[in-house]
Amino acid sequence: MLHFDHYMPTRIIFGPGKLEELGKTPFLPKGKNAMVVIGESGIMLQQGYLARVQGYLSEHGVRSIVFDKIKPNPESDSVEEATRICREKKVDFIVGLGGGSTIDAAKAIALLATNEGELWDYVASGTGKNKTAANAALPIVAIPTTAGTGSEVTPGSVITKTGSAEKIGIRHESMYPAIALVDPTLMMSMPPFLTACTGMDAFFHAVESYLSTVRSPNSDLLALEAIHLICHYLPRAVEEGSDEESRIALAWASTAAGLSLSQAVAISQHSMEHALSAFYPELPHGAGLTMLAKAYFTFMTERDLERLGDLTMAMADSIGLDLPEDQLTEAFVPILEEFIRSIGLRDLKLSDYGMKREDIPALTETAFQTMGRLFEITPTEMTAEDVNTIFEKAFE
Ligand code: NDP
Ligand code: MN
Repeated sequence: MLHFDHYMPTRIIFGPGKLEELGKTPFLPKGKNAMVVIGESGIMLQQGYLARVQGYLSEHGVRSIVFDKIKPNPESDSVEEATRICREKKVDFIVGLGGGSTIDAAKAIALLATNEGELWDYVASGTGKNKTAANAALPIVAIPTTAGTGSEVTPGSVITKTGSAEKIGIRHESMYPAIALVDPTLMMSMPPFLTACTGMDAFFHAVESYLSTVRSPNSDLLALEAIHLICHYLPRAVEEGSDEESRIALAWASTAAGLSLSQAVAISQHSMEHALSAFYPELPHGAGLTMLAKAYFTFMTERDLERLGDLTMAMADSIGLDLPEDQLTEAFVPILEEFIRSIGLRDLKLSDYGMKREDIPALTETAFQTMGRLFEITPTEMTAEDVNTIFEKAFE
């Protein structure tokens, strides 16, 4: 039976060269003090993105301070440090410039800046205290420089509690960014491996939201659009990073998958990956998903999920394959494997990131304890034993 609740308050400004709009838009959040949050690698300075953002803000008479200590797979202590600065300097709004890690951190900082206490007070699972944030977050401007997470259009932020293996999504409606400024030219500087990993993250957002039991007609449309574009353009962008056409298509695919995700939520593959990247912080999120995929979707195929066949059709169509209808469900995993090979990720190994077979029971426990909610919207029942087996197979 059809029923859904659609809410998406983010203004999306999309297009090559659109970063410039930041200097002109009449929709910038109110106030004269902004904090620009960036990652610690220095790439935002090297590429000149930070200087441009600060310059455009100053065209509105906005002063900006920079917080530059965000690591990939961001941690709660840096969110709390930035929050103290925001409160002290009376920051009016937050700009997140970078990949999903930076944008997620910016969103968490925005929420904590207007609410008392520590970040884990507002986390609903694991050792979180599950308090409801009383106040809306500071307004957020999200400027993605990767095409993967879709965090610029979701109300979620994924943070790891410092010193623990808890990597958890925090969701609050006020964390939908006020503006998502998506300029594909900022993504041209991504090297091939980052392009491939982030593209796969967007791909699995689309796949998982299409399979999720809380999907809607709108999330389905966006998911199929994203899958189609990613299968067609990701190999090209990995091969030739300066190809503008593929960067534009992938930037939109990532935002489309994020929109789909914001309505339908990911399923348990994401619970399992968050356990992995919390245990092994060097593991890029998209690489973790890619290494789980064969085992995870083989399990799904065995449950004979018809909707998996729709996804095969979207992929096959995009790469010019014609398949008989009765083979669509079983064809999903082989086509996916071929696709992973085509973007150079076939030889990834979990052991290269530090995983040991003995870790599996703890990984499974963490997946259920921290992101257990996603198992409830997964279209088939999964026991701890099933999850153990999938981790085992992915490890092999
Ligand atoms: P990251 O933001 O972790 O960035 C990875 C690396 O790429 C960093 O070193 C970063 O540098 C660098 N980088 C970023 N942009 C460029 C560029 N244009 N050119 C060259 N290098 C660049 O990667 P992701 O975008 O994949 O984000 C992953 C995180 O997002 C994970 O923590 C994941 O769990 C989370 N996530 C959140 C979702 C949500 O809905 N909120 C959904 C899915 C994932 P620097 O650090 O200096 O910026
Ligand atoms: Mn993801």
